[in-house]
Amino acid sequence: MTIVHKISTLRKILSRARLKRQTIGFVPTMGSLHAGHAALLKACRKQNDISVLCVFVNPKQFGPSEDFRRYPRNLKKDVLLAKKEKVDIIFHPSAEEIYPAGYLTTVHVHGLSGVLCGRTRPGHFDGVATVVSKLLNIVMPDCLYLGQKDAQQCVILRRMIQDLNFPVKLKILQTIREPDGLALSSRNSYLSADERKQAVVLCQALCLAQKAILGGERRGLWISRLIQGHVHKNSHGKIDDVACVDADTLTPQRILKGKVLLALAVNFGKTRLIDNKVLMIP
Ligand code: AMP
Repeated sequence: MTIVHKISTLRKILSRARLKRQTIGFVPTMGSLHAGHAALLKACRKQNDISVLCVFVNPKQFGPSEDFRRYPRNLKKDVLLAKKEKVDIIFHPSAEEIYPAGYLTTVHVHGLSGVLCGRTRPGHFDGVATVVSKLLNIVMPDCLYLGQKDAQQCVILRRMIQDLNFPVKLKILQTIREPDGLALSSRNSYLSADERKQAVVLCQALCLAQKAILGGERRGLWISRLIQGHVHKNSHGKIDDVACVDADTLTPQRILKGKVLLALAVNFGKTRLIDNKVLMIP
C-alpha cells in the first residue's frame, strides 16, 4: 500500500495502471475510518483492480462555526484499516495541495444544495461538490463508492456526475449500523455515554415512520410529526430537520408516493447526527 500526498505523484501511478487496462475504484472520505467506510472499501476492492482511498478533511464543507478543527483525525488507525481492506493507494493531500493560493472555483448544484441539510449548513454541499469534482478529475476512477447514510450528498453528487459528464459509475452502498441501529459516523465519538444511548432515537423514529407508511399512512406532515414526537419523547435531542421528500428531486411530499426519502437530523449538544430511510410506495 502506498500513501501519496501529491496530485502529480498520484496521477503518474494511476496513468500507469490505466495503461495496463486496470480498473480504478475510488472511496473519498474524511478519515477517522469505521466499519461504514470499510464496507465501501470492501466493495471497491472486490469490483476493481486498483482501490484508491482518499483521506482529506475538506475545509470547504465546514461552516465557520462548525467542527473543522476538532473533527477526529487519526491517520495511523486509518492506515491499519486501509491495509486490512487491501487498499492500494491512500491519497492524503494537504489543504494547500487541493486549494492552492489563488483558488477561486466552486461547483454548485442548484436546487438540491439549499434544502434539507443545506438549509442549516449553508455552503456545505458546495464544498462537497467542489472537492468531489476535483478528486474525480484527479483520480479519474471507473467507479465511485458512496454511503447511503449521506442521502442528500448521494443525490447531489449523482446529479453533478450526470450534469458535468464525469465518466464514472456511481455505487451507493447501504448504511452500516451499530447493533442497536445507530448509523456509524465519525462524529459519534463526540457523544457522551448518555447521548450515545439516546442517539438510537434517530433510527427508531424512522422505523416507526416506515411502519406507519407500510400500514397505509400517506400524509407527509403526519409522518414528520410522528418522527418528531418519538425523538422529543425519548431523548434530549433537538430536531434540526425532518423531511419526507421525493428521493430523487428532494421536493417535499404532502402525500407520499413513489420513491420517498425520510430524512432526519438531530442535535445532541453540539453534535449533529443524521439518518434516513428510502421507501418505495406502490
Ligand atoms: P465521511 O468520511 O463521513 O465523509 O464519509 C465518507 C463516505 O463514507 C461517504 O460516502 C459516506 O456516506 C460513507 N459513510 C459514512 N458513514 C457510513 C455508514 N455508517 N455506512 C455506510 N457508509 C458510510
